Amino acid sequence: MYDILILGAGVSGLSAALHAAENGFSVLILTKGSRPDGSSNYAQGGIATVTAPSDSFKLHIADTLEAGAGLCKQETVKILTEQGPATIDQLVKWGVQFTPAEAIDTNIHFDLHLEGGHSQKRILHAADLTGKEMMRALLVQLHKTKSIQFLENCIVEDVIVEGSSNKKRCVGAKVIHQKTGAVEAIYAKATILATGGAGRLWLHTTNPPDACGEGMAIAARAGAALQDVEFMQFHPTSLYAPQLKKTFLISEAVRGFGGILKNHDGEEFMNGVHPLRSLAPRDIVARAIHFEMERTGKDFMYLDLTARSSKDIRTHFPNIYAKCMEVGIDMTKQWIPVVPAAHYMCGGVLVDSWSRTEIPGLYACGEVAATGVHGANRLASNSLLESVVFALRAVENIQKSDILKTSFRPQKIKLENVIISDGAHWKRRRLALQKIMWEHCGIIRSVQGLTMGLEKIQKFLVEVDAAMKVKGPKNLALLEFRNAVQNSNLVIQSALLRKESRGLQYITDYPKMIKNTKHHSIYLCNDSKTSE
Ligand SMILES: Cc1cc2nc3c(=O)[nH]c(=O)nc-3n(C[C@H](O)[C@H](O)[C@H](O)COP(=O)(O)OP(=O)(O)OC[C@H]3O[C@@H](n4cnc5c(N)ncnc54)[C@H](O)[C@@H]3O)c2cc1C
Repeated sequence: MYDILILGAGVSGLSAALHAAENGFSVLILTKGSRPDGSSNYAQGGIATVTAPSDSFKLHIADTLEAGAGLCKQETVKILTEQGPATIDQLVKWGVQFTPAEAIDTNIHFDLHLEGGHSQKRILHAADLTGKEMMRALLVQLHKTKSIQFLENCIVEDVIVEGSSNKKRCVGAKVIHQKTGAVEAIYAKATILATGGAGRLWLHTTNPPDACGEGMAIAARAGAALQDVEFMQFHPTSLYAPQLKKTFLISEAVRGFGGILKNHDGEEFMNGVHPLRSLAPRDIVARAIHFEMERTGKDFMYLDLTARSSKDIRTHFPNIYAKCMEVGIDMTKQWIPVVPAAHYMCGGVLVDSWSRTEIPGLYACGEVAATGVHGANRLASNSLLESVVFALRAVENIQKSDILKTSFRPQKIKLENVIISDGAHWKRRRLALQKIMWEHCGIIRSVQGLTMGLEKIQKFLVEVDAAMKVKGPKNLALLEFRNAVQNSNLVIQSALLRKESRGLQYITDYPKMIKNTKHHSIYLCNDSKTSE
């Protein structure tokens, strides 16, 4: 029995674990795979925080609200921005090394980048490998902390919820040991879901394989609400390089550094689309690229950074420079071919401003959670900050709540081993599902397209339900497909509930924003609620 069980070891899970251990809690944190490989490792651009004297919380809030297209929750945005500087101090204490300011200035400690949608330079970064550096430092710190147990190669199948209706409580999780298929119940007084984003539900994505939104399906099966899951952010500029097995992101910071989007004739097609041109909010840029690709019949557009000096480019973007060189593009002399890809899940498991889900004892933080900070569109580099700020708040809430004081005796649950090998049928189904999501629930949507997608997905749901009823051990690929298909179903249903185009949801049948827009909470049992 642990005080706190943390599911997922990205920046949110690791920050929660460290904060919990510092406050004297016993902690078990677990992750899929032999090392944590969620999105955190791949974050390039940086972490947005007010640190420069010319900047202010008011400006950061205004930029976040502007990008969020009228759907951000003001309370959580305020918390996010105001907790930013203290959160950076905490990260630095844990050993994160952000790139320092070039000039010696007592007021400015860090080199600050500008990114799309930000009115100020406020992006702290570690060259162009910010997430990797954060993960390095947090893992070093984790391994030094004796009161934290770290379990790798461990997949969460479900959270364990006991009691019914208003007496419900999450008491831990059922986990699959990835190497053996053995299934175990791990109990804790509080459980924090930190399983990351859901980009892998779509065919083209910047996300690593672990980012398939499993935490969303797990929470939904436990009866928790999801919110705003129609808002998948498509990053405008992933590297167009069909020879690469994994998509590679060209950070927004490249546009902040002077990169200009051009079509194949060199025309700056963002002129006239938005006053910020290439640095307009991501949803606008991604759609503009999509339309320009359609208009010109091309598979990609270009990003031109050649106006900057070769030395500057290689100093600020060593990782991007190296990856471009690997596919034969010298970005100091040549334009970079780019194409949009699914990137960031703005919605997720509905939480309050203390990261509490609707199920007592179950918290969620990081990309899996819907804090309402991002509204209908995330402002660049707000997510690493959100991941840490709301991970720390989950622990603070556990500390001051009664949850640690109220004991419980876990009931016996059925544990059946899982088959790890094979599963080719379900893997093929998964690919088919990713294609459906890309085709029917992508950058440009329509009621007809979404409805067709939903019909196809519902056939998969029937197949999954039948397979789950067959007696005997289940295949891991079936369980993963079940998560993916339940998530896709909820995403499309949410998209259909939103009868307007706002932020990341662009639906041709409803091209305008509506007045008095609302959030939709959606449940696996097909219920939905609407809230301010
Ligand atoms: C290419 C790329 C670039 C980005 N750049 C930036 C940036 O510059 N700035 C910014 O603010 N944001 C950026 N983001 C977004 C940001 O990285 C993520 O939102 C953030 O890192 C999410 O952290 P997390 O801890 O919630 O999840 P993750 O880092 O994804 O970690 C999730 C963890 O959960 C584990 N997991 C998942 N499912 C299960 C399961 N069923 N059982 C057990 N474990 C599980 C994973 O293995 C992993 O350990 C970027 C994202 C990508 C993909």
